[in-house]
Amino acid sequence: MGNFQPTSALSRPDTDVLVVHCSDHRFQASLHEFLNQGLNLHDNYDLLAIPGGPQCLTLVEYLPKFSWASWKWFRFLVDAHSLGRMILIAHQDCGWYKTLPMHLHASAEPRERQEQDLRRVKQALKKDFPELTVELYYAGWDTSDRITVETVSP
Ligand SMILES: [Zn+2]
Repeated sequence: MGNFQPTSALSRPDTDVLVVHCSDHRFQASLHEFLNQGLNLHDNYDLLAIPGGPQCLTLVEYLPKFSWASWKWFRFLVDAHSLGRMILIAHQDCGWYKTLPMHLHASAEPRERQEQDLRRVKQALKKDFPELTVELYYAGWDTSDRITVETVSP
């Protein structure tokens, strides 16, 4: 392929929003739509798309080096961009969770494990970054593969 020139130009306005969600290909289009049309972010947000999404911020004891790197990226973005709003999204059938030992969570039920992690991250953020607003969401699909993004209560 030769050069490619997207129709979208450089986005100049500042953002104070960071989105953290999983890298799972099955959800990218619907999450993009949720962020831009559901939350009206107009493509103006920082994004960390990594396996397990926000779960990386809970691994202090189980995978300390992994956790350290995640927090390092996170702090960099919070400080460099004066972030004020975090959007953390977990999703149904997350492959990353299948690799985690059961003892890390209070429940064996996948969604409960993920919601527990979202709340853990929110608590940890409240301590280190009390000025941040943190929103928690869970994306799942129905029998016709339609995706719904639900708010997770804190
Ligand atoms: Zn995932």
